[in-house]
Amino acid sequence: MSYDYEALLQRGFSKIPEKVFKSTKYETPKAEVAVIGSKTLINNFKEIASRLNRTPNHVLKFIVRELATSGTIEDARASLNGKFSKEVIDELIVRYIKAYVLCSSCNKPDTKLVKEDRLTFIVCEVCGAKNPAKTLI
Ligand SMILES: [Zn+2]
Repeated sequence: MSYDYEALLQRGFSKIPEKVFKSTKYETPKAEVAVIGSKTLINNFKEIASRLNRTPNHVLKFIVRELATSGTIEDARASLNGKFSKEVIDELIVRYIKAYVLCSSCNKPDTKLVKEDRLTFIVCEVCGAKNPAKTLI
């Protein structure tokens, strides 16, 4: 592991909003990314999804849409078509957390997604707030 790689991690770390880290029992999971040929593997994908208390499919839908690519889940990993850096994947995980995990009323991550008709809501188990989430197609 080179010094430059460490510096990159540091920079990625500093970009993460403070409130994600302040939440109790919560640390933003980091992707283990490997680019193989023309594909990008996220080796700890299932673990990331379970740390976020979300299904791997939902997290993957968000990531492939943001990257305008396609991907599949293979056992514990996700495989994306195209080459993407760890920094990009980590940034998307942070954005996913902000869009689909954190309660926008109290900023706690103890939430669940509830579907009603064609709408998705983030329901907070701490403060009881129910806020609309962007629908992933
Ligand atoms: Zn809340």
